[in-house]
Amino acid sequence: MPRRSLVLVLSVAAAVAVAGGCTKVEEPPPGDAEPASEIAIAPDVEARLARFAPTEIRADLSSLSDEDRRVLGLVVEASRWLDPLFLRQVWQGNPQLERDTHGWSGGARGAARQYFELNFGPWDRLEEMEPFLGDTPHPDGAGYYPEDLTAAEMDAWLDAHPEDREAFTSTVTVIRRDGDKLVAVPYSKAYAEFLGPAADLLHQAAAATSNESLAHFLDLRADAFLSDDYYPSDVAWMDLDAPVEVTIGPYETYEDGLFGYKAAFESFVTVALPEESAKLTRFKEELPWLERNLPIPDEHKNFDRGTESPIRVVDEVFTAADARAGVATLAYNLPNDERVREAKGSKKVLLHNVMRAKYDHILEPIAERVLAADELPHLAFEAYFNSVLHHELSHGLGPGTITVDGRKTEVRLELKELYSTLEEAKADVMGVYDILALVDKGEMPDELRTTLPATYLAGLFRAARFGLGEAHGRGVVAQFNYLLDRGALAVDDDGRFRVVADRFPGAIRELAHDILMLQALGDYTGTAAFLDRWGTASPALTAAVARLDEVPVDIRPLFPDAPGLAGPPTVTAPQ
Ligand code: ZN
Repeated sequence: MPRRSLVLVLSVAAAVAVAGGCTKVEEPPPGDAEPASEIAIAPDVEARLARFAPTEIRADLSSLSDEDRRVLGLVVEASRWLDPLFLRQVWQGNPQLERDTHGWSGGARGAARQYFELNFGPWDRLEEMEPFLGDTPHPDGAGYYPEDLTAAEMDAWLDAHPEDREAFTSTVTVIRRDGDKLVAVPYSKAYAEFLGPAADLLHQAAAATSNESLAHFLDLRADAFLSDDYYPSDVAWMDLDAPVEVTIGPYETYEDGLFGYKAAFESFVTVALPEESAKLTRFKEELPWLERNLPIPDEHKNFDRGTESPIRVVDEVFTAADARAGVATLAYNLPNDERVREAKGSKKVLLHNVMRAKYDHILEPIAERVLAADELPHLAFEAYFNSVLHHELSHGLGPGTITVDGRKTEVRLELKELYSTLEEAKADVMGVYDILALVDKGEMPDELRTTLPATYLAGLFRAARFGLGEAHGRGVVAQFNYLLDRGALAVDDDGRFRVVADRFPGAIRELAHDILMLQALGDYTGTAAFLDRWGTASPALTAAVARLDEVPVDIRPLFPDAPGLAGPPTVTAPQ
């Protein structure tokens, strides 16, 4: 449902488009100023902004030492450097647009500026990246590639220059034109003006902490900002165990819609909740069993991954860059580097205070509007928390490194720009499959048989609203349609949805099988066909989503507890 009418037009004295790969910001020379150009603003921009409910995310910092608080402040400061960096990763034209809209406040202009900051660019992350500011179409390659570069041109270049393949497909280079050549520029050079100061602050934070695992990670990460070698610090991050938990660096590749190669910078600054974490460590011991239990032939199971896989439950204190763009992250599973995953497993971090905020402010109001009345008592935060946890555990299970036609490769490389969509759907479905398996095994409470499907269904509606252009959104619609087709979900006469309890587990198993086999075979064509067949919203789903109009689509986190740049950090009581 694209909303493309751009009626309200405002005039500003600068052009938006910035050509070439230059990230340096320069004012146009006097006397040679660009003619006044007009930046169109989507007429409904205030309504768009209102879909994000400003929500204070509180964290209990009362148990932190003075030293921990100093470290927290320095890491927050380092993180702030990643915002302007990520703005350039999203689009090379963003710095100019940022200046053109500087100081816009009140009414549509104020909303447009705030929405620009929320989306890190002029494209609506909830509306398939359509522009709400200006009329430049979103470049698939974001700010990572020359804007006019096509996948065909890049493929042709790599066929002719096989020696460039490693640097060009690296997660930490940008591709630029140099005359009629294409060149790969490492992040450390392309983004030096931001990574330099951030690295200094991380070194200062490392010097300020007496926690060895944290100091080790921060020093190695600072070094990686300047060397582009993230492997040692990714390994150190796996061993990080400190009151202040920090995740900072280039991670997710969703922003690269051209190839899915390039990693976006982000930062999560959090404080540990050790008691909550301890409750979950027993699931780690189940990981080899869960891999064996996957509904695919044994030859496709992945028994090589490390089993360390720590789980951390934390409260979020501050986020920056990709972590703050669009929809707020609930949990994450990192690193993405398969070499680290096979050596050390991966670490799941659950953002407890963000999950509770979304459950209360989004999920429950959604369920009240679209689920059958007798499903509502089945909704439970416990089921929600576990589905998020097992979504994250599932990212560490199933095919990762695979063999296609005798060639050793990775699922990520074979499925290219479709990888993220399928991987997120896999994690949703396998999470449900695994919880039901653990209930059968007697490892989890029996009540999840009823609370989990209803809570998962409400979660599908929450995620379906993100739109088909967002990686997770299309995969969510595919799950919904598939389960409806298999009779595991049903629509009542009044348009409300329910779970068909006796069909649900079998359909989840089938869906998990289908998705996992696409990954195991590195089947790009099959993945495209799967998403084409199932990934389009049906009239019933569209009508149900339309009933959710007055429920915020997401929270917009405010961080009252993040230490400021000046003055002592705020100490607050728990919520
Ligand atoms: Zn995920």
